[in-house]
Amino acid sequence: MIRTFAELDLDQNLIEAIEQMGFERPTQIQADAIPQALDGKDVLASAPTGTGKTAAFVLPALQYLQDFPRKKAGPARVLILTPTRELAMQVADQARALAKNTNLNIFTITGGVMYQEHADILGTTQDIVVATPGRLMEYIEAERFDCRAIEWLILDEADRMLDMGFGPVVDRLSAECRWRKQTLLFSATLEGKGVEGFTEDLLKNPVKIEADPSRRERKKITQWYHRADNAEHKLALLKAILSDQAERSIIFVKTRERLAELRGQLESVQIVCSWIQGEMPQDRRNNAIQRFRDGEVNVLIATDVAARGIDLPDVSHVINYDMPRTADVYLHRIGRTARAGKKGNAISIIEAHDQPMIERVMRYTKDEIKERYIKDLRPKAKKPTFKKKKKKSAETKKKSNVKKKTGKKK
Ligand code: ADP
Ligand code: MG
Repeated sequence: MIRTFAELDLDQNLIEAIEQMGFERPTQIQADAIPQALDGKDVLASAPTGTGKTAAFVLPALQYLQDFPRKKAGPARVLILTPTRELAMQVADQARALAKNTNLNIFTITGGVMYQEHADILGTTQDIVVATPGRLMEYIEAERFDCRAIEWLILDEADRMLDMGFGPVVDRLSAECRWRKQTLLFSATLEGKGVEGFTEDLLKNPVKIEADPSRRERKKITQWYHRADNAEHKLALLKAILSDQAERSIIFVKTRERLAELRGQLESVQIVCSWIQGEMPQDRRNNAIQRFRDGEVNVLIATDVAARGIDLPDVSHVINYDMPRTADVYLHRIGRTARAGKKGNAISIIEAHDQPMIERVMRYTKDEIKERYIKDLRPKAKKPTFKKKKKKSAETKKKSNVKKKTGKKK
């Protein structure tokens, strides 16, 4: 079992960069995936959010490029696909930090950037290109990007890419990169619909790695919930949490409308926040994230769509102001706190109708989520109990007598 970076067959210049980044030991996914990737295998890997997947594919790619140095200038040899531009930038930043003691060139090709700006880089030698699928495909179609030299194809957040409808484009990109030697696919989950079929065409006899450090890492997240009687009560609870205990928080809401409403409510009591939502101009998104990252504001409100794949450092609290629709999304959300060994808190503020959801989350995660109270803000209503008798309750899995054909799908 690998416990140190030194055991990973990485060159000294990479080890030094790793040390300078403050990484002390490899995370589970890094220890599992790096040797396989360096061994020339295709890799199909999943690990929860925040467990260091980026370095798990960047490090072997950098090592590979050093082991087989290019003989002459030319186009990219490693292509990393990510679902969003923010993520592409983050991956590129981390790759540059890890490659700081090398001469390797790392570029991004994403939407939201003028063709002009990309024009310069396309002429120069690139070692690694981090790209979003849509924009890259445009370049290929315009014969402005050449995939023939790609030796490694890496897909980050494959589940999100599928969710976002990138499946067909990724398939085409895979065909464009058909001379590659290796393919690595990373995902938070491998369960989503279509991931199986999708990966079949992309990977050749992949080594499947499901790092499950989640138990241990999730342990560092203290989860609890507060019950609210109504909307005003809910807001009062949130304000109390933000002013008394939360240092740096991400608040999740379900829609843009809810986001706008909450923003107004917080601003009216002088709680400054930034926010991100889907379909927001790129510069404003970056701006909002930067303000939060720099500590200019300590509250970030987000919808799930907007928060996909973004690594926001040092979040002390994840607050579910609206419960997510699935337990899986809950896990994605809370994965944003307690990153890489730090402690974190995940608080759900729920109304009566959310009670079944919080219970589902507990079953799914096998974590205990306790109710807590805030002085003077105790709920008046009793905790609702949803009896399993209720017909539409999908929770009861009575396998025995479901012979009836009725489309009783979950
Ligand atoms: P994921 O892609 O799995 O969600 P990231 O690659 O974004 O996770 O990493 C999450 C955070 O953990 C980043 O801030 C990263 O710098 C940090 N990190 C990665 N690997 C390590 C490590 N071995 N030790 C400490 N921190 C790490
Ligand atoms: Mg990631």
